[in-house]
Amino acid sequence: MKSTMQETPLLVSSILQYGAYAYGDSKVFTYHGDSISECSFSEISERSAQLANALYEIGVRQDDRVATFCFNHNQHLEAYFAIPSMGAVLHTLNIRLFADQLSFVINDAQDTTVIADVEVLPLLARVLKDAPSVKNVVVVGTGDLAILDPFNVGVFDYESLIDSMPKTYKWVDLDERSAAAMCYTSGTTGNPKGVVYSHRSTYLHSLSSISGNSLALNKDDRALVIVPMFHANAWGIPYSSFMAGADMVMPTRFLQAAPLADMIAKTQPTIASGVPTIWNDLYHYLLSNPMDMSCFRIIASGGAAAPEALIRGYEDNFGVKLVQGWGMTETSPLVTLAMPPRHSAGTSWLKYEVTAGKAVIGTEIRIVGTDGAELPNDGQSIGELEVRGPWVTSSYYHNDSLESFDDGWLRTGDMATIDSEKYMRIVDRTKDVIKSGGEWVSSVELENAIMAHDAILEAAVIGVPDEKWDERPLACVVLKPGREVTPQEIKDFLSSRVSKWWIPERWCFVTDIPKTSVGKFDKKVLRNDASQGRLDVIKA
Ligand code: ADP
Repeated sequence: MKSTMQETPLLVSSILQYGAYAYGDSKVFTYHGDSISECSFSEISERSAQLANALYEIGVRQDDRVATFCFNHNQHLEAYFAIPSMGAVLHTLNIRLFADQLSFVINDAQDTTVIADVEVLPLLARVLKDAPSVKNVVVVGTGDLAILDPFNVGVFDYESLIDSMPKTYKWVDLDERSAAAMCYTSGTTGNPKGVVYSHRSTYLHSLSSISGNSLALNKDDRALVIVPMFHANAWGIPYSSFMAGADMVMPTRFLQAAPLADMIAKTQPTIASGVPTIWNDLYHYLLSNPMDMSCFRIIASGGAAAPEALIRGYEDNFGVKLVQGWGMTETSPLVTLAMPPRHSAGTSWLKYEVTAGKAVIGTEIRIVGTDGAELPNDGQSIGELEVRGPWVTSSYYHNDSLESFDDGWLRTGDMATIDSEKYMRIVDRTKDVIKSGGEWVSSVELENAIMAHDAILEAAVIGVPDEKWDERPLACVVLKPGREVTPQEIKDFLSSRVSKWWIPERWCFVTDIPKTSVGKFDKKVLRNDASQGRLDVIKA
């Protein structure tokens, strides 16, 4: 028997229209260092229509890929709405990719137009000669555009282009399953792979994010969107905040601790999103420059495991709850969130906060052994994490390989445990797992234990060949300024925190840990450095 219900399509344009209708006076703040500009949701809606009209004028048609090459700001948000709503496909380009990766993804997606910040034009100019599909570049910000002269592309100034355009657009009535946006994985463990989000997946992901047991974004919130809009849709927060009427604070290129602290002091956000390296930098800055952080309801951390010491440090020193989530580009990205259960109020919260959390409404997770059988949720069994749901990809763009998929589930390449309360913990990425004498050492747990040492700023652990045990952990450590510590002292510290056989006998003190384009530890680089003998390894 069929239902009698209407089948109104779930579209990005509906998010735009609803946000402007219900919360027209909510605000988007853009931080420029010496000033903060603001734009209401009503203005964002009008400017998105102007942008769509302008893009149409310069030749953008349905299904055309329009790339953005921008930091987080109101114009980027306008592109987030205008491009999918006019029936074209938004392709967010990562401004920290190497030139060859960038031309690879532009060519793979066949981008016809790029909306780019003036600050990153030099990088774009390096790839344009290898990107013949690009016909137009729309520049945000003022500066020297002569750098684009050698290329056969139309060059437009964003503000002048949209200025004279009508403030309404007849948003296209689309099939909700059609492509809204695409994003390439950041390639931490290989070449970038394209994921194409639908209008439906974007809408449902946003609804789930604003629900009470998830991020609970609402009209009284102000979200500091630190996660770049080119990294997994900034975790969908631009869309979910607009849907919920939550103000947004866009940091542009000011992602260092001092300007972030200034932004927080001036705009008083209630929620923020960032990777652990950002939270770690800010935390150490705040220790020497303390300030009131009581504006925050939560700060959300994802993209890599947040060390327990950091979670505890925010809570103890600043009264701020750091909530971890897990996701990937392939999953829009939000799949799990570590909100503690009702019965845990009080001291046992940390037990849950150190996990990656439980599946949010709309998603399912499971762990699977090497034989393909599902493993029990006992908190002990380690298997590959598999996920499914309406905002999880079922394939990659231009790629027929099925190795990442298992009977309708996405294989994530992460090794995890799930406990009886359904909280999931990432043990490692399959490619980072260290096998010592046939037994797994979790590099993530070892790093977290090392980073709990008071003198240590950052630590990354990789596996290196070992004659006796096949592989052993090598710990690369960054000390806090002015601090000194010997490997033996760290080993003593670890002895009560991890299994004895996990404790590394290879140590390396470095000035910083190499990071990927989205700020995660780049273990590929470290492994390569180690194999080439470029690391000063101390045996202790
Ligand atoms: P890339 O795969 O290139 O790093 P993504 O940003 O899509 O790009 O990263 C997804 C990966 O990030 C996950 O597969 C997982 O390994 C890691 N990750 C995300 N959130 C967490 C978390 N809370 N704890 C540990 N690892 C995480």
